[in-house]
Amino acid sequence: MKRIIVLGAAESGVGAAALAKIKGFDVFVSDMGKIKDNYKEILDQYGVEWEEGKHTEALLMNADEVVKSPGIPEEAPMVQKLKQAGIPIISEIEFAGRYTQAKMVCITGSNGKTTTTSLIYHIFRSAGYNVGLAGNIGRSLALQIAEGKTFDWYVIELSSFQLDNMYEFRANIAILLNITPDHLDRYGNCMQNYTDAKMRILQNQQENDAFIYWADDPIIRTELEKYDVKARLCPFSILTGEGMTGYVQEGEYVIDTTLPFRAKQEALSLRGKHNLYNMLAAGIAARLSGIDDTTLRTCLGNFKGVEHRLEKVAEKDGILYINDSKATNVDACWYALDSMTTPTILIIGGKDKGNDYSAIEELVKEKCAGLVYLGADNTKLHDFFDRLGLPVADTHSMKDCVEACRQMARPGYTVLLSPCCASFDLFKNMEDRGEQFCECVMNS
Ligand code: ADP
Repeated sequence: MKRIIVLGAAESGVGAAALAKIKGFDVFVSDMGKIKDNYKEILDQYGVEWEEGKHTEALLMNADEVVKSPGIPEEAPMVQKLKQAGIPIISEIEFAGRYTQAKMVCITGSNGKTTTTSLIYHIFRSAGYNVGLAGNIGRSLALQIAEGKTFDWYVIELSSFQLDNMYEFRANIAILLNITPDHLDRYGNCMQNYTDAKMRILQNQQENDAFIYWADDPIIRTELEKYDVKARLCPFSILTGEGMTGYVQEGEYVIDTTLPFRAKQEALSLRGKHNLYNMLAAGIAARLSGIDDTTLRTCLGNFKGVEHRLEKVAEKDGILYINDSKATNVDACWYALDSMTTPTILIIGGKDKGNDYSAIEELVKEKCAGLVYLGADNTKLHDFFDRLGLPVADTHSMKDCVEACRQMARPGYTVLLSPCCASFDLFKNMEDRGEQFCECVMNS
């Protein structure tokens, strides 16, 4: 019997294990950390054996195939050993993809994945499609298939880590939103390695599939020259309409497919240039999938966005507070700053992933009236930003941070949490950081 080893027992790993068990494999799950109780319950319920707090080599090296969770880096010693032994290592999506006939709409990019994925799911559901949501967002694809869900469509958010271990999986509609530096710590500080991972979304696409991408992205443009893309190319832009499948011109949002679509830009619910890109990508995917005019129009107008992404928290004493805790890289913060229309106090800092802050220097000068650093160690921020001559404050807790913002801001200002960094130095995760921000603002 084929032996499948699953490394990492969180959402994706547990799903993969359950599905492997149902498909009759000999399955074993191993996690170096502690496995959460709810995941242990699922493993037990499916009769899957597991271990936690260690990797017992003797139980793993006899695998025929390994499903690796995206959170486990390539350099992890156990992964290296398995690789050296020539055992194939795949991702949960690759594994699950073997057991469904559903059409796959897959979204990747450095920023905008969750927003675009949620919007497409919202549109498909509103149109009455039999659609599931999976990947980096929502529930594990493998677990849904294990539970016997038979969706006609899946909308799947794919991170570069998932794409790294995908080989045969085919996206019927692939969306590549942008490629900007992120997670370089996991790619040997090599931008090309990270770029190659993102471009894998194209692999295995056929003539009747579609590849939707941001045409103005210099990296994507250069990369595309290297690939022989079989799928139909569907570029989008907000600079030009020429040759574009989606564009914005003279205040009009246009989708130019066999099912054309037009709407006034002001009728779109999400603000900011970056969200125009996300809505163009979603609109193209929707029309290619046969979504009717009325549903698309309604959904582009009523989509509420996703929490922790440029989310308005409150207005207090004439100061607007915005939670963009999800801005865990410099590019996301760039778009947040770009969309600011009033003097801004920017909260920045956290776990730095090798950031180059020069990309936002001009916008900080143009838009910011002050900077509040929020991290366990703010040295790098001091070194880069102090010389700009803006008021700065050094804080190490959300409470102190919000207090510093309150003192720096004047009526008419915006306080923007868009930290460019991961949150793990002071918070459980980016949601915890965003929630603490909202709470401190409410209590201030
Ligand atoms: P992801 O899932 O790729 O992290 P999100 O939709 O969660 O993307 O957004 C992450 C951050 O990036 C937020 O701060 C958001 O405001 C910003 N953002 C959203 N869409 C884009 C885009 N197309 N380009 C650049 N930044 C974006």
